[in-house]
Amino acid sequence: MLSNKFLKKYLCGAYLRLSHSDDVTVENGATVQGENLQSNSIANQREYIQDFLQHKPEIEIVDFYIDDGYSGVNFERPDFQRMIQDIKDNRINCVIVKDLSRFGRNYIEVGKYIERLFPLLGVRFIAINDSYDSADDTAASNNIIVPFKNLINDAYCRDISIKIRSHLEVKRKRGEFIGAFTVYGYMRGADKNKLIVDSYAAGIVKEIFRMKMDGMSQQAIADELNRMGVLSPAEYKKEQGSGYKAVFQTHSKAKWSAMAVMRILTNEIYTGTLIQGKESSPNYKVKVRQKKPKEEWNRVENAHEAIISKADFEVISDILQKDTRVSVGKSQVSLYSGFLVCADCGCSIVRKKACSGSMEYIYYVCSGNRKNKEVCSNHRISENALNLAVTKTLRLHLKYLLDLQESIQYIRESSSHSDKVEVLVLQLGKRKEEIEKHKRLKLECYEDYKNGLISQEEYLLFKQGLENRIEETQKAVTELGKKKRLLLDGRYERESWLEELLTNKDFEIKRSILVRFISRIFIYEDHRIEIIFRYQDEIRQLAELVKEIKQDMSLGEVV
Ligand SMILES: [Zn+2]
Repeated sequence: MLSNKFLKKYLCGAYLRLSHSDDVTVENGATVQGENLQSNSIANQREYIQDFLQHKPEIEIVDFYIDDGYSGVNFERPDFQRMIQDIKDNRINCVIVKDLSRFGRNYIEVGKYIERLFPLLGVRFIAINDSYDSADDTAASNNIIVPFKNLINDAYCRDISIKIRSHLEVKRKRGEFIGAFTVYGYMRGADKNKLIVDSYAAGIVKEIFRMKMDGMSQQAIADELNRMGVLSPAEYKKEQGSGYKAVFQTHSKAKWSAMAVMRILTNEIYTGTLIQGKESSPNYKVKVRQKKPKEEWNRVENAHEAIISKADFEVISDILQKDTRVSVGKSQVSLYSGFLVCADCGCSIVRKKACSGSMEYIYYVCSGNRKNKEVCSNHRISENALNLAVTKTLRLHLKYLLDLQESIQYIRESSSHSDKVEVLVLQLGKRKEEIEKHKRLKLECYEDYKNGLISQEEYLLFKQGLENRIEETQKAVTELGKKKRLLLDGRYERESWLEELLTNKDFEIKRSILVRFISRIFIYEDHRIEIIFRYQDEIRQLAELVKEIKQDMSLGEVV
């Protein structure tokens, strides 16, 4: 009679609840409390469940959990909590209720249990009157929309079912999940195997790389993004949904973290290279993934449009390496760490401190010197001497760059300038849309409340959640507006440090400047230093280009 798959034994908790306040129905204006209360009485519920289970031999009732006199609006009910604890303690792996409204009337919370917690803990859930059974594979009863339809009225249901349908869609997509396809900054195109740029998120990615270029730490970048009200990748994804319930759920927003910023800075996907097969997992349900060796990764260059140039990406990788190699656990790295290399043995040059009297004296020596005295000598150089030499060379280099770029800089600057403005305008638009949406939802929410579709308690919760969001977003709009004005005025990010470096003799070199312009500094035994600048090839090409342009122009003048 029973097929093998039903032989699994379920240890079941039957949950019964009765409230004297919210189990009141109104028909044609007349309260029919008596009848409703009776049909929902604890005894009635118990009998109903036992009846039903007569035909389910695989389900054994272990315990009854009874909350008599508790509202279904929240889950602060003693026996409900006891049941959840028993689930966590593996005492039961199945929950049965007469109907969903016994379980709870807060649809969001009910959804959390039924859609997330229970599947996660492997708990079978049955709502008899709603013909819902999570172990039943047939489409009709497996569809969560069915019980919700019975639980709530049509208007309310339409909203929720749309949400749930989209939720299921997300799940289905997850089934065919390929890591790269959900990366922040990209979205799926019409051709599902091809990534296309999500211009809004891509703008944020560019901004993150730019901030890193400027020498900001991952934490500082995260803080800045949070200050600007930029949604974290996870929240951004969630925000694509709609409905005030979704908004309410995301009320306590996951903010940007240093880790999230790091993930973006190290993801080669932004250069247009698709890397897949980094990890393997037996199947999509198993969460534990195993890292595969790098040689087995599947690399496809130019698989999609790049957001970050390969050159910029390399610079950032280099910076990250320099930062971490010496600064594990430190918030600040010392000025030259990661830059200094012994010209003779290739070892790094390390920072030393000496005191003479009350004076502190910083100098650098070859680390190879200590490891093996016969291979390398001291290469000792004082920090003052090094600073002087670096500043002098850097000035010359920058002067050269400025001269060189004179004819091209304007075009370049103005294009990247307008890029930035464009990103800000996009962000502003997005934030303003959000405010409008939340205002609209607040109104909808109020109408639902007026029409008795949601309780006052729910209404007040939603309203508060929405108001908080509107306020937060409004702050972000103000910030963004300020930034945009500054940018349009041309006052924002005017590279004052550059002028200062070129004119002020006592200018102090900052790490952010080193990082941007210098790749390596070689130290020779005779205190000579050799600086390898970034973009040396590009600069040479630029010089040739400028020369050609100048020649063309002079020819043009002759003709
Ligand atoms: Zn050396």
